[in-house]
Amino acid sequence: MAQFTLGWEEWLSLPGLGLPAIRAKVDTGAKTSALHAFAIEPFGSSDKPMVRFAIHPDPADPDLEIICSAPLKDRREVTSSNGETELRFVIETEVAMGDRRWPLEVTLTDRGAMAYRMLLGRSAIAEDMIVSPTQSYQQPELSFEAYRSTPRLKQHRRALRLAVLTREPDNYSTRRLIEAAEARGHTLEVIDTSRCYMNISAVGAEVHYDGRRLPHYDAVIPRIGASITSYGTAVVRQFESLGTYCLAGSEGIAMSRDKLYAHQVLARHHIGMPTTAFARSPKDSSNLIQLVGGAPLVLKLLESTQGKGVVLAETKKAAETVISAFRGLKADFLVQSFVKEAAGEDIRCLVVGGKVVAAMRRRGAPDDFRSNLHQGGTAETVRISKAERDTAVRAARAMKLDLAGVDMLRGDDGPKVLEVNSSPGLEGIEKTSRKEIATLVIQHIEAKVAPRSPRARRAPRKATPGAAG
Ligand code: ADP
Repeated sequence: MAQFTLGWEEWLSLPGLGLPAIRAKVDTGAKTSALHAFAIEPFGSSDKPMVRFAIHPDPADPDLEIICSAPLKDRREVTSSNGETELRFVIETEVAMGDRRWPLEVTLTDRGAMAYRMLLGRSAIAEDMIVSPTQSYQQPELSFEAYRSTPRLKQHRRALRLAVLTREPDNYSTRRLIEAAEARGHTLEVIDTSRCYMNISAVGAEVHYDGRRLPHYDAVIPRIGASITSYGTAVVRQFESLGTYCLAGSEGIAMSRDKLYAHQVLARHHIGMPTTAFARSPKDSSNLIQLVGGAPLVLKLLESTQGKGVVLAETKKAAETVISAFRGLKADFLVQSFVKEAAGEDIRCLVVGGKVVAAMRRRGAPDDFRSNLHQGGTAETVRISKAERDTAVRAARAMKLDLAGVDMLRGDDGPKVLEVNSSPGLEGIEKTSRKEIATLVIQHIEAKVAPRSPRARRAPRKATPGAAG
């Protein structure tokens, strides 16, 4: 076998971390190997500890940032060449150099700007290898271009650190998301939205929780209840300003929660919906009734959920009576033409990442025009038309939601959207469709959270000399 010689500097790759090219300094004076990383944070359970960290592989290009995660092997005190002792996280990963691959123990350290992102110590060098300290690059040279040329699909999959923002840690949807995330090797932490607090500053946005700063998450799944929409969207916005991918953005949540805003957005995108008029306390209720084509019509309180504030007025007289009652309550409401042909049924389409992944038809109790399951309705799976599919996808996109439950009625002249839900429950739809929707949600997040940050695709900057490591 040919001799395997290492120079004092070499190119290597760490495939298990998704790092195709790293320039390392070979230093037999040091025992342990080190990787210069930052934002180093342990996560996962005690029986499966993990560590997440970020690295700028190219010292000349601070915009190229790669997030890695790896099983945590140990924490160890390490004394570096400048005599400082530091408690470091230790991981084991495979190193590839030339035609050889071997397992390697690496400590993670954040020692600032080092020209060599890695230090290869003597414990990393096998007995049959020779180190030639006066020569460099005895092994094939690589290039940082590898980071820019790897197609997205071929990129490295890693364990993600995810969080779900919810006040219901035990409900079906939360449990299923945890199960699906763990089955795919990720960690999903449950965070009570109402217990998050934040510092708001131009630099270094943070989210705090129970006396500690929340770590970096690869993605956040907001499931914000209607009762805390305003605070919840503020928490989501904070994660957004940290650069975290949020399955439902703050803007989408805010839009979908405000019926008035939502209808205006849907109309602007030419998405079919029942003719709708809004009012606060109209003096002229008959004009309002005219606006939507007269009775029968549907009146809805703006804060209605689960069909509780939705009334069908069969005659003009009945409509006027309800409007006067709402006016007495000083409640905001909307008036909508009654889609009679829907016959007490509506369609819920679940949209994940711009695709309808499941649909169900909900039918109201025999004497109810409302099909809400909370009002005694039943659900079954349904085949939807292309027009319905397109409408659902466009409605979710208009509301800027990567996960959405789009409710629509089957009108004579096409689908009519009633509502776009930004945290759709998974129980009804999973049980009806017999599909693992939670898994599809996690897979969508995996595709979104590519290991390369979008910044990595920018043109590299001119080289700046860094200090030797
Ligand atoms: P909520 O947000 O309180 O659930 P919705 O607007 O979804 O209120 O209405 C509840 C149910 O009432 C719908 O699922 C649908 O079956 C029925 N419904 C609502 N609006 C109309 C309408 N314009 N025409 C016919 N049925 C309607």
